[in-house]
Amino acid sequence: MNALLTRLRGIVGDAQVLTHDDPATDLSAWEQDWRRRAHGRALAVVRPASTAEVAAVVKACAAAGVSIVPQGGNTGLVVGSVPDDSGTQVVLSLARMNAVRDIDGDNLTVTVEAGCVLQTLQDAAEAAGFLFPLSLAAEGSCTIGGNLATNAGGTQVVRYGNVRELCLGLEVVTAQGEVWDGLSGLRKDNTGYDLRDLFVGSEGTLGVITAATLKLYPRPAAQLTAWAAVPSLEAAVQLLGLAHRHLGAGLTGFEVMGQFALSLVAKHFPQQRVPLWSEHPYCVLLENSDSESEEHARGQFERLLETAFEQGVVSDAVVAESLQQAHALWHIRESIPLAQAEEGLNIKHDISIPVSKIPAFCAETDALLQREVPGVRLVNFGHLGDGNLHYNVQAPEGGDASAFLRDMEAQVNHLVFDQVRRFDGSISAEHGVGSLKADKLPVYKDPVALALMRSIKQALDPQNILNPGRVLN
Ligand SMILES: Cc1cc2nc3c(=O)[nH]c(=O)nc-3n(C[C@H](O)[C@H](O)[C@H](O)COP(=O)(O)OP(=O)(O)OC[C@H]3O[C@@H](n4cnc5c(N)ncnc54)[C@H](O)[C@@H]3O)c2cc1C
Repeated sequence: MNALLTRLRGIVGDAQVLTHDDPATDLSAWEQDWRRRAHGRALAVVRPASTAEVAAVVKACAAAGVSIVPQGGNTGLVVGSVPDDSGTQVVLSLARMNAVRDIDGDNLTVTVEAGCVLQTLQDAAEAAGFLFPLSLAAEGSCTIGGNLATNAGGTQVVRYGNVRELCLGLEVVTAQGEVWDGLSGLRKDNTGYDLRDLFVGSEGTLGVITAATLKLYPRPAAQLTAWAAVPSLEAAVQLLGLAHRHLGAGLTGFEVMGQFALSLVAKHFPQQRVPLWSEHPYCVLLENSDSESEEHARGQFERLLETAFEQGVVSDAVVAESLQQAHALWHIRESIPLAQAEEGLNIKHDISIPVSKIPAFCAETDALLQREVPGVRLVNFGHLGDGNLHYNVQAPEGGDASAFLRDMEAQVNHLVFDQVRRFDGSISAEHGVGSLKADKLPVYKDPVALALMRSIKQALDPQNILNPGRVLN
């Protein structure tokens, strides 16, 4: 191991290889996952500054038979970016590779290094007069490489798709330490298998993403946000249909929030004024991005809400009068996970179901959970426009949350995931598999798909050097 560490220091410089040998160095920022579900122990944290250095690091580790855990902002939610506890894995941090290499305005593309923080990329796009639409609550810390490796979704998917849809090209270091330069800004290229799509969503198990060419969009002339109370989930789905018809491509956000989820924000963050939550089972946050003007956007929203009121789909609604009000409304939605954490440990699910089946799924699964685990509290919210729910289960009020997690997690997961399968859904909509759900794939993934995935892993990384035990185990 010492020979490898010497080699790594030779590649990236002494200061960029961090180990436990130096008692003054604290590696917990790289070893502890965001949800505090795992704390591993790394052989070393290595921080290359260029693609050539990444390639040399991978080659050195492969020659020594040492496995690598690629890491961006370490905000992943499925324990995929931290080392195991063996003390033998190298964490390969992309944080120093953070340059925006090029913005091509005519081609509407940006080429950026993997360690660039998402918010920095959004800001760079804005400064150049464009929109980079990927947006999620971790955007101040997560990196574009991590977003691509997890195929991140977020709040704008209903209009712009997951980051997969925003990606035109990649630069990747393979498990053998070769560099694949696929940084084309092409929107059409049918010259064989789509390697880009193979690496997007592969969670660091097939290659190390070092850079990407991504789509840019014109900035909308106006962005309006509305908050609507609805009498049921069925009504929320109907409102989504109406919003698609009235707003067309202007519909850029459609989030649903259950009453209990909003009550937690009201309880734990009383300084935030949560509208309409106390008398309605669900509220919906809608965003309309308009290429004409604010007046046009407001007119569209008014017509949509008028129709929705007439049809009994909306019980009450407010449209934000200013950008500040719009931000405050989005802030409420983004505060739900934090409010939930304040309330105590909970069992998280990131599931997708065809939108049309969501009301029936929730009605059945809510009832099943109440029957099997009396008193549990459901924190149901998410990106309804994409059929993606964060269907989280909180311990009964006043109960011991740690004991609940320890004793009930397996049973609750089993119940929820079986229901997801029954309703043709996915047990991981946008957070990925990591190590938290790797044991679930053999149960819930189509066996032919799983066998193809294993063949791909074997072909690209026969030594199992890259993030072993994640996704496939
Ligand atoms: C508060 C909060 C809100 C979130 N909201 C959303 C949301 O709305 N939608 C959503 O989709 N996700 C969400 N997430 C999770 C989301 O997956 C991550 O925030 C983000 O996409 C991961 O980026 P990262 O740079 O932190 O990656 P990391 O956590 O460092 O890594 C994630 C995975 O990608 C791999 N990886 C990282 N960089 C590379 C690379 N360069 N090459 C190859 N593999 C790599 C890692 O090995 C790991 O398997 C949220 C997380 C938090 C904490």
